[in-house]
Amino acid sequence: MIVTERKPLEEILKSLEKHAKVFLIGCGECSTTCKTGGEKEVLQMKEYLESQGKKVTGWVVPNAPCIAAQTKTAFAQNMPAVKESQAILVLSCGLGVQSVKENDRFGLTVLPALNSMFGTLMDARGNFYEVCSNCGECVLDMTGCICPITRCPKGLLNGPCGGVIKGKCEVDRERDCAWVLIYNELEKKGELDKIKAISKPKDYSKTTKPQKAKVSQ
Ligand code: SF4
Ligand code: SF4
Repeated sequence: MIVTERKPLEEILKSLEKHAKVFLIGCGECSTTCKTGGEKEVLQMKEYLESQGKKVTGWVVPNAPCIAAQTKTAFAQNMPAVKESQAILVLSCGLGVQSVKENDRFGLTVLPALNSMFGTLMDARGNFYEVCSNCGECVLDMTGCICPITRCPKGLLNGPCGGVIKGKCEVDRERDCAWVLIYNELEKKGELDKIKAISKPKDYSKTTKPQKAKVSQ
């Protein structure tokens, strides 16, 4: 799940200043859950752009699983409206925006309406939590499935640091120290020996951008 937030409307309008005819693409998965790019938000954006003198040629919200996998079909189903447009405004994460760009056969201007924040899990109350930083060297097997790279603000692999007070993090007193959570979890599982293992420094070459991976056949 990728959390997104809508860009300020003035910023979106500025990005569209040279384009009068706009096609809108939302996202039936993450952006719908975040209430930033579902059908309701796409229709609100349509109404706003029309109130600012733009012509919205059409709109679509590709269904789950992910806009990145549905873009080609969405284009095929809306070809006349897309062809008539000068720009495509995408209400999805950066992955979706770039997927739209890759699949655009008309050389249109493709613009993001949202800011991508982070990959996350959602709890039962609908709160979002960042839990993985895609580090390329997962250590969850040693940490009771709690990620120290992401949940410890210092990304410590051999924590905790000296700043933990009453189980809370020194960087954010509202937040539990990730390494206290890891300790408690390992203790529960009878795996405290794992916390004594010294982790080697991370290989940050694995997160050099841009990443590339082959799909195995
Ligand atoms: S260690 Fe943390 S950041 Fe790295 S892959 Fe595992 S969950 Fe993601
Ligand atoms: S208190 Fe815990 S979570 Fe906070 S920086 Fe130190 S080790 Fe990381």
